[in-house]
Amino acid sequence: MNYTVNDKGFYGNYGGAYIPEMLFPNVEELREQYLGILGDPGFQTEFNTLLKDYVGRPSPLYFAKRLSDRYQAKIYLKREDLNHTGAHKINNTLGQILVAERLNKKRIIAETGAGQHGVATATVCALKGIECVVYMGEKDIERQAPNVSRMKILGAKVVPVKSGSKTLKDATNEAIRDWINNPEDTHYIIGSVVGPHPYPDMVTRFQAVISEEIKAQLLEKEGSENPDLIIACVGGGSNAIGAFYHFLDNESVKLVGVEAGGLGVETGKTAATIELGKPGVIHGSRTMLMQTEDGQIMEPHSISAGLDYPGVGPIHAHLCDTGRVEYANVTDEECLNAGFLLSKLEGIIPALESAHALAYLEKIKLAENNVIVINLSGRGDKDLATYIRHSEE
Ligand SMILES: *Cc1c(COP(=O)(O)O)cnc(C)c1O
Repeated sequence: MNYTVNDKGFYGNYGGAYIPEMLFPNVEELREQYLGILGDPGFQTEFNTLLKDYVGRPSPLYFAKRLSDRYQAKIYLKREDLNHTGAHKINNTLGQILVAERLNKKRIIAETGAGQHGVATATVCALKGIECVVYMGEKDIERQAPNVSRMKILGAKVVPVKSGSKTLKDATNEAIRDWINNPEDTHYIIGSVVGPHPYPDMVTRFQAVISEEIKAQLLEKEGSENPDLIIACVGGGSNAIGAFYHFLDNESVKLVGVEAGGLGVETGKTAATIELGKPGVIHGSRTMLMQTEDGQIMEPHSISAGLDYPGVGPIHAHLCDTGRVEYANVTDEECLNAGFLLSKLEGIIPALESAHALAYLEKIKLAENNVIVINLSGRGDKDLATYIRHSEE
């Protein structure tokens, strides 16, 4: 595998662990233990059994006939939207709760912006009967009331963060502070392929089940495990790397990551990190980062809360540098159009995040025999209010 992390935690020029000294023991414990835990047959058995019986895997690879007719290609949808809790995030939180158990941790912390990762974390904590504390900006708590209720019903404590802009970045700072103060008994569940080493690699390994399944499913349906093209949306980049992972070394499979263009990359109201970013350090790793001239982190904008992040996982910065993955972006409007189109053509209302991947179909020329896989990272139930607001126009 040409694109795996090295023993210092770097992907080319990106990654590493840029953390305050006081966090070092926690991260070091995880770094020393994670590969041993993941490789243990007992861990593998429990993880795979829960993926099957609790999450509902394998998620179907669905041949979308009417969408295929429209774009004159063979389009398959990888249905992560059918997972328990409605997205791919549960693959990772489930993996991490099993790691936490094996590290004898009695308490889980997480931060959440839109609430999706908070819900996926609260879910696995309930499953295991482990205490769960979720940090969330006060502004996000107001904006994402249904997910706050879900977390509480699941037994999690949601802590409002009142500092700074009262959003994700401030919630992250609070979670880190908590972890520093509770190094013995607490595990911090990070929700994407971001953060200090070993998180990006650990989360990649948990999400890689997506591409492992795609291979087996394509072999059965097409007689070849390799498609011509795989498209996935990129926020932090976990669903995308999950869909790409087992194809990275096969250059004949084209891989495209679609970022949130927001109102357009030229407007500054955007979350297209790879398009606009420069190298910098965020949340413990060196990666591409949207920043102002004087190096401050830019406030991102996207219609989809899950893509509204000013950084990107270090592996994606590296895959962009090497040219192995092509990164594109689509606007809020293009995303909405694609979401409405899939709803009408296939009877599937996609998450607005996933609709970014679908919108990319408008940007390319396809041939009739092209086999394309789109990773449908989540379902659109959570986005109904946004869909409704835009359907009258
Ligand atoms: C959180 C989320 C994303 C973005 O996160 P990645 O780490 O980039 O995958 C994408 N789609 C859905 C449905 C999400 O909930």
